[in-house]
Amino acid sequence: MFAIISDIHGNLEALESVLADIGRHPVSAIYCLGDIIGYGPNPIECLEHAMKWDLTILGNHDQAVIFDPEGFGQNAERAIFWTRRVLEASRRDDLWSFLAERPRVHREDDFLFVHGSPRSPVREYIFPEDIYNQRKMAQLSALIKQYCFCGHTHVPGVFVAPSEPEGNWQFLAPEECNHFWRFDGRKTIVNVGSVGQPRDGDSRACYVTVDGWDVTFHRVEYDWRKTRDKIYAIPDLDNFLGDRLDEGR
Ligand code: ZN
Repeated sequence: MFAIISDIHGNLEALESVLADIGRHPVSAIYCLGDIIGYGPNPIECLEHAMKWDLTILGNHDQAVIFDPEGFGQNAERAIFWTRRVLEASRRDDLWSFLAERPRVHREDDFLFVHGSPRSPVREYIFPEDIYNQRKMAQLSALIKQYCFCGHTHVPGVFVAPSEPEGNWQFLAPEECNHFWRFDGRKTIVNVGSVGQPRDGDSRACYVTVDGWDVTFHRVEYDWRKTRDKIYAIPDLDNFLGDRLDEGR
């Protein structure tokens, strides 16, 4: 069994609660689909954790901290520049090289791992409403051998390909499939949700475990008030970034 986490965004309280929860399952490897940093108050500590995991893919915020932020809103961009200054002040070359060496995709057996999408691994979003965009889903599907794991939207769930070529993709939120999915041969994309900034209306941190063909979604309570107060105390991190943790948006 292995665990897949994503979109930690510098939220150490959420990350440590998730790691403790993972420790209660027979998990032999941890994979992370990117965005370790950006938005949250503890980039260094989260990177230190990530350096111990079996796989960590590059996310768009990780990329923006190393290179130049492109296409971000004002709050996100300020948070990215603040994160960059914190890393620079730390004089930790190991953190910079770790970030710079992250792969954009990882393939293993029937599985593809990306932050965003198979077509544009770091930046493209696959939203639940994209199931109505047949063209987009067909193009993504062509790039997936069988099963794909992603993050990026912070909205967990399962996208399942239609059985007939003209049919529509289906999206199931975890609560619509009893927090469990068994891969059945149809092409499938699983969004593992976000550890540090869930946006599906549930403030609890989200991650999945994979055992053979079985995927289980997990939700974990954490002390979001503590993270929120740290964010409030840093002028470059907009208060909204703290408020949204409570609401899961
Ligand atoms: Zn993210």
